[in-house]
Amino acid sequence: MTQPTTSREWHLIARPEGWPDPERDFALREAEVAQPGEGQILVQNLHLSVDPYMRGRMSAAKSYVEPFELGKPMLGGAVGRVIASKAEGFAEGDHVLHHLGWREYATVNAKSAVKVDPQAAPLTTYLGVLGMPGLTAYAGLLRVAEFKEGDTVFVSGAAGAVGSQVGQIAKLKGAARVIGSAGSDEKVRTLVEEYGFDAAFNYKNGPVAEQLQKAAPDGIDVYFDNVGGDHLEAAIASINLHGRIAVCGMISQYNATQPTPAPRNLAQIIAKRFRMEGLLVGDHYDLQPKFVEEVSAWVRSGELKYRETTVTGIENAVDAFLGLLRGENTGKMLVTLPE
Ligand code: NDP
Repeated sequence: MTQPTTSREWHLIARPEGWPDPERDFALREAEVAQPGEGQILVQNLHLSVDPYMRGRMSAAKSYVEPFELGKPMLGGAVGRVIASKAEGFAEGDHVLHHLGWREYATVNAKSAVKVDPQAAPLTTYLGVLGMPGLTAYAGLLRVAEFKEGDTVFVSGAAGAVGSQVGQIAKLKGAARVIGSAGSDEKVRTLVEEYGFDAAFNYKNGPVAEQLQKAAPDGIDVYFDNVGGDHLEAAIASINLHGRIAVCGMISQYNATQPTPAPRNLAQIIAKRFRMEGLLVGDHYDLQPKFVEEVSAWVRSGELKYRETTVTGIENAVDAFLGLLRGENTGKMLVTLPE
């Protein structure tokens, strides 16, 4: 193809306070495309990932990843096609997964790119069910929460990329009962009818603690937390003796401007001797081969289902990100760039 000379890319231009403001905080800018140097590849991005953790990187607070730099393109997962290569082992036409998302074209150090095979699985799945969110679900449930057959599992954010996989893996591995919460009646129907959850509820329809207690009258053994706040408090109230809580995310707080009060019942950790542990997917890449083998087999056989919500066009990437925070996605939220 003719080499592109310019690429549109999203810059963070102000640090959001509370909900990000698309006009004030972001700018779509045009930049010159850098030709690949030795060891680099030029990639035409085809699918960009937008993820909740990006909200953390928009703030200056110290965390496990560096904040996005103001006035520079944001970073994020992407898959694309190599259109020029000066790196051994990468040829024009190869497809790669890399971290220079939020832009149309990326000049990538080949060392930080991974080749992916569009024949083995659709390209988008390397950002979702077979990618980082999938591994988060797999490692969080099986390793951090020490899931075992016969457990009753509760997962919040259950219709999202991570949550929908947590619930299905638990079922496939012999959970006694799987309960999910999500933010719309339609999502709740999907959890039960499509993903095979035993029970599900819409957290907007009433207090989480009451709805969970009704859905799990004998309590829960594992809580996979994607939401925090009143969900975590409800899970602590329902958790059984020696239960396990894997804290994966607290999305209900990502745009909060004041510290949030719940959980107010943490003292129950003593009597119930439950264990609560934070989870970072980056700690669990040693499980990647096992995860890909097991989950891709379930996807191929149709035992594990996944959905994707796709927004088209680089110009709509910020809207896609905000839509994710508002719950407009079912399954993985993606931005697809027309070729
Ligand atoms: P999702 O696909 O689950 O999308 C986010 C979802 O969060 C929305 O669809 C929305 O669904 C829900 N949500 C938004 N606001 C609230 C709220 N106030 N209360 C309850 N639910 C809300 O995203 P991911 O699957 O990518 O991520 C899920 C969680 O996992 C996030 O907390 C994320 O930060 C975390 N994560 C952590 C990782 C780690 O290494 N620790 C790695 C990857 C993800 P709804 O309509 O149901 O409200």
